[in-house]
Amino acid sequence: MIAILKRNVTDEQTKSLTDWLKAMDLDVHISKGQEMTVLGLIGDTSRVDMDLLRSLDMVESVKRVSEPYKQANRKFHPQDTIVEAGGIRIGGGYFAMIAGPCSVESEEQIISVARSVQESGATILRGGAFKPRTSPYSFQGLRDDGIRLLLEAKKATGMPIVTEIMNISTLDLFEDVDIIQVGARNMQNFDLLRELGKTCKPILLKRGLANTIEELLMSAEYIMSEGNTNVILCERGIRTFEQATRNTLDLSAVPVLHERTHLPVVVDPSHATGQARLVAPMAAAAAACGADGIMIEVHNDPAHALCDGAQSLTPEEFSAVADQVRKIREAIQ
Ligand code: PEP
Ligand code: MN
Repeated sequence: MIAILKRNVTDEQTKSLTDWLKAMDLDVHISKGQEMTVLGLIGDTSRVDMDLLRSLDMVESVKRVSEPYKQANRKFHPQDTIVEAGGIRIGGGYFAMIAGPCSVESEEQIISVARSVQESGATILRGGAFKPRTSPYSFQGLRDDGIRLLLEAKKATGMPIVTEIMNISTLDLFEDVDIIQVGARNMQNFDLLRELGKTCKPILLKRGLANTIEELLMSAEYIMSEGNTNVILCERGIRTFEQATRNTLDLSAVPVLHERTHLPVVVDPSHATGQARLVAPMAAAAAACGADGIMIEVHNDPAHALCDGAQSLTPEEFSAVADQVRKIREAIQ
């Protein structure tokens, strides 16, 4: 349930109202915007007398929120959430250019890719240390060493870093990681989501291979329900009958998510298409449809990459994509 307060309501009045609601065993989330203040009520709202609440002088309107996601719901929080990570903002007009290799392979590789994508305008460095691979015989990532090398690259360039967590038992290794990624395969690992919800780290939550938009929002809700509201959503393509691309990039998810949630939405055209030559047009399309950022795999030597070489851009190709994305953003602003 949400209660929208009248414009001239004082902080004191808001507090007395929230105290009254909390006494009914409800969690009250206050979202104070320039235009209006919204109180989001979570818990058993059947005990709230809607007519009584509506009749209060300070209350403009009261509505039930029928969607199962509450804290992630734009009705609860009408203004865009801006997530801050390592001094970089994402959402609410701030666009994130995230780039880097699928996997961290060596110190030379990660530092050279970091420097080149930074020069082309990337603001956040990606790189997998714990890799969720379909085959147990494929390269599994450098694990602890991978995180250590990413931190070296962060030190060398000043770029914030994002890397995937697969198991909560490794959380300590992520202390200096700026954004923790939950990969598509773990989108519904609810225990992992809950534990990450207890941290205050920004979380990049990727859409599952076969998950609906509502399921993605419910996974965000798992994180937020534990107190961590720093969630960035990522559309990375879904499984369909189509075989010409690795996945089908559901770009309509971007405007749909923007309607339904206040959380930032980034697009990963690399995993979505699986082919380097398709990354540029889909990155451009992502920018054009209002994404809050893009995440692109870049490798210094894609032909010899230990993971996802076919979809990896060279630093030069990334530079051209970044230029085009900037132009599209200028054109639509
Ligand atoms: C990744 O970004 O490294 C990755 C494994 O992506 P996804 O979880 O979307 O497959
Ligand atoms: Mn990859």
